[in-house]
Amino acid sequence: MLFEELNLSTPILKAIAEEGYTKPTPVQAQAIPYILDGRDMLAGAQTGTGKTAGFTLPMLEILSHNLPQAKRHHIRALILTPTRELAAQVGASVKTYGKYLPFKSTVIFGGVGINPQINALKNGVDILIATPGRLLDLISQKAVDLSRVEMFVLDEADRMLDMGFIRDIRKVIALLPKQRQNLLFSATYSDEIKKLCESILRNPAIVEVARRNTSSELIKQSVILVDCKRKSALLGHLIDQNKWTQVLVFTRTKHQANKLSEYLQKINITSAAIHGNKSQGARTKALSDFKAGNVRVLVATDIAARGLDIDGLPHVINLELPNIAEDYVHRIGRTGRAGNVGEALSLVCVDEYEYLRGIEKLIKLNLDKSTVDGFEPDPSIKAEPISLGGGGRGRGNNQRSRSSNGPAPKKRNGNTHNRDKNRR
Ligand code: AMP
Repeated sequence: MLFEELNLSTPILKAIAEEGYTKPTPVQAQAIPYILDGRDMLAGAQTGTGKTAGFTLPMLEILSHNLPQAKRHHIRALILTPTRELAAQVGASVKTYGKYLPFKSTVIFGGVGINPQINALKNGVDILIATPGRLLDLISQKAVDLSRVEMFVLDEADRMLDMGFIRDIRKVIALLPKQRQNLLFSATYSDEIKKLCESILRNPAIVEVARRNTSSELIKQSVILVDCKRKSALLGHLIDQNKWTQVLVFTRTKHQANKLSEYLQKINITSAAIHGNKSQGARTKALSDFKAGNVRVLVATDIAARGLDIDGLPHVINLELPNIAEDYVHRIGRTGRAGNVGEALSLVCVDEYEYLRGIEKLIKLNLDKSTVDGFEPDPSIKAEPISLGGGGRGRGNNQRSRSSNGPAPKKRNGNTHNRDKNRR
């Protein structure tokens, strides 16, 4: 299928062509016709599938059938995203795809000054991209009028719920006109998501694109077994030996992200950390330095990295496995995107074997496991519960761990794995 077959008009097709896209991705090919038909939609699609253009292109098309009168802009489309980074990225996409249309769009999120956002809203906006907290702030200051919204997009709805935004979302929805088109994107379908869909969507078209974890052959996934305490040193060794120049590394906690970043700097590997405690300015700078190749390693926590779009990212490393198996899928989805082959490597210690089993069960794959000479795990070290930082919950108490199905290995059992010592 070609974009020309999707009933998009010339200004949009021109912007797409300038981006170098030759054909719609599967989610775009499926979603765009439904959205242009005015249907509500529930789409199961993750970042990396082209979902942003999947809703932005038809949104621009629909809005363009009724162009704004000179200087008379009002909010006609509202896109809610869970994180600032995702909001910024969606905002950039709206500008890119809409560059030949006379719409005004703006992005609002917390962590930065509110006044420039109030001014942008005063100047008139057709398309508003926002995170829920700051949007509610601006609503309470009467800086936002949602009474004429025609299209409402809830992006990464599962993550919104994970982050506790459900009440905020409901407050926002209560302010929207009853007559509107709703599009909901979610990578997973929990009962909570189903409930949310039932309360928002009317007779939705359902679009589901293959999850990257089960379909993507573009990501080479593997595990290196190592002692917890030696992970940072092993990572430094791998980066050095393999001469990796752009590596995204995940940690479970902000503290660990900082610690690792400092360690890498110390051994002369340029690095920056992004997480919720960093100011928006610091996060944006870290990301742009990383994209520009000025820092080799970006260390991120799950929430900070959600939705990050880095073209052709070759390596994703899990310094620590996530305690929620689905997060593994989100993490590795940062690589192997838009046709590039990527590598997702997890450094796993004895404490994490239970998490690893949960992940393998979810992705229905037995990951290749190996060790690296000089970094072999010490078989006498026993597994200890993992503290998740926020309140000291151990693994056993972690309600959201999806990896509690099998017994935790009592001690390191690396020898039972299919090892290939010379792999690296
Ligand atoms: P998303 O899933 O929206 O985060 O998009 C992932 C990446 O795919 C972004 O870098 C987009 O620029 C890119 N992209 C979106 N649509 C297409 C397309 N039809 N062809 C090639 N790349 C695309």
